[in-house]
Amino acid sequence: MIHEILPVGMLQCNCSIFGDETTREALVVDPGDEIEGILEVLARHGLKVKAIVITHAHIDHIGGAQKLRRVTGAPVHMNAADEELRRQMDMQASWLGIATPEVTAIDVEAKDGDRLLVGTNEVLVLHTPGHTQGSICLWMPGEGKLVAGDTLFFDSIGRTDLPGGDGRQILRSIQEKLVPLPGPTLVFPGHGESTTIEREREFNYFLRGM
Ligand SMILES: [Zn+2]
Repeated sequence: MIHEILPVGMLQCNCSIFGDETTREALVVDPGDEIEGILEVLARHGLKVKAIVITHAHIDHIGGAQKLRRVTGAPVHMNAADEELRRQMDMQASWLGIATPEVTAIDVEAKDGDRLLVGTNEVLVLHTPGHTQGSICLWMPGEGKLVAGDTLFFDSIGRTDLPGGDGRQILRSIQEKLVPLPGPTLVFPGHGESTTIEREREFNYFLRGM
């Protein structure tokens, strides 16, 4: 499967583009900004966007979604528990001192256990609240990959001091939904470098005792 990662915007959010080589269907995760660059990658591979998935409604992950939605006609998937954050783009923009992006419409409510197909590739939604109430991760069992949003990072976990954050809840989500995944699963966090489940089980301070 095609997988390109583009760090976009001021906070360098990792936008993932997955494409099926046969059907040319694509999934775009977290188009926070720099939509032109994302469209260029899609065009280079001859891909058509089937779905846009938002791991959570922080501006650096969702800021470009409406633009990509309009250009591609693809539906935007997001968990309903981040609705309030989605509507607060002006407040989030003021935290960063940037212009307020268009607030994206949500077409599909992403729920725990949802299954998307990109070609024959299965993508499963894991609801992992804690960084925000509507945070989700995407697990692709056939590819052995996890898109972790801002829930799990290389050597760290997502911050929980912003509105909607909950420190105990993020640990519970990681313990219940991510730690049980196969050790070699490649983890692509919302920022920074990739890792594996087994590496984080062994070295991540926050995961000790899980
Ligand atoms: Zn975030």
